[in-house]
Amino acid sequence: MGDMGDDFREHKEYMKDRKEKEGIDCPGCRKVQPKRIPTRLLPGWKCKVCGYVRPKNNHNNNLTTH
Ligand SMILES: [Zn+2]
Repeated sequence: MGDMGDDFREHKEYMKDRKEKEGIDCPGCRKVQPKRIPTRLLPGWKCKVCGYVRPKNNHNNNLTTH
């Protein structure tokens, strides 16, 4: 039982770490609700508050499509 809890906590820590490194403050929230703390968005995430979708990172612009 305890193992599951630890995994969950590790996952939460991992996501928190990712959000701090890769996350951006939702630009939509700033426009819609300037007084609210913007949602932290990772690439490809959709904001539940304003509906803004952050594009995924396209660091490798593949010209060849399959
Ligand atoms: Zn938003």
